[in-house]
Amino acid sequence: MREVTTIALDTGSCSHPQRMTIRDGSLRAIDYPALAMLIVHPEEGPILFDTGYDPAFLAATEPFPERFYRWATPVDLKPGRDAASQCEQLGYAPSEFHHVILSHFHGDHIAGLHRFSNAAIHCARAGLEDAHKGNRLMSTRRGILRSLIPGDMGERARFFEEAASVPLSPDLHPFERGADLLGDGSLIAVELPGHCPGHWGLVLNDARHGLHFLVADAAWSLDAIRRDVPPPAITSGFLGQTARVRTTLGSLHHLWKRNSDIRLTPCHCPERAAEARKGE
Ligand SMILES: [Zn+2]
Repeated sequence: MREVTTIALDTGSCSHPQRMTIRDGSLRAIDYPALAMLIVHPEEGPILFDTGYDPAFLAATEPFPERFYRWATPVDLKPGRDAASQCEQLGYAPSEFHHVILSHFHGDHIAGLHRFSNAAIHCARAGLEDAHKGNRLMSTRRGILRSLIPGDMGERARFFEEAASVPLSPDLHPFERGADLLGDGSLIAVELPGHCPGHWGLVLNDARHGLHFLVADAAWSLDAIRRDVPPPAITSGFLGQTARVRTTLGSLHHLWKRNSDIRLTPCHCPERAAEARKGE
């Protein structure tokens, strides 16, 4: 695989009871960071995987019924912590990005899209179609804030389902196939079913970490993957499909047990966010 570099960006957090994300968690509310990943490709330049929180999230959750989303998961976003601002601080203007990759369409993953207006948007067709189903209240209940989807999405979308399907390295067993997003083997999207319709992760060869699997919301933490403990059915069934969430988590657990050298990064993992804050 072509080598790329990554920088995890901690774009703020929301708080909710730990028990919502892991079946044996406490009822105490804890902070869940939202990580975006800046990927630097040798030819394509900077690429973003998920956007995390952005001031646009706060604007989108100002009116009702979207305000319910913010009440359910109160957000802490400090000025300058959104992905676009952090990319700028690192020397990458958002207008320079030719590619943004979305794991799925929940508001905390797409809120910053509006800042990357020149980028192709790689995403699941199934996710985009699902995001447009139902009325605003039904969408909001499922974590979708439709006003965050750019108006020119139709022209900019590049669907995972239409990218070349390629076999994955045997190191990634039991995951077998992925979608080669750029056609050069550097960024391979891998379906991780269950969390919501059209939920995918990304495999890359990271200059600092070796094989690196960005698993988005297939688990809320590395702890959940190591111990194979899913969220309670009330959470997984509310957002997606419980049986598929558990199968996907089981596959990630199996992968980690077979090859703990592979770096796994769940989007909301407190361990990974602590590393990001230390610049690791
Ligand atoms: Zn999600």
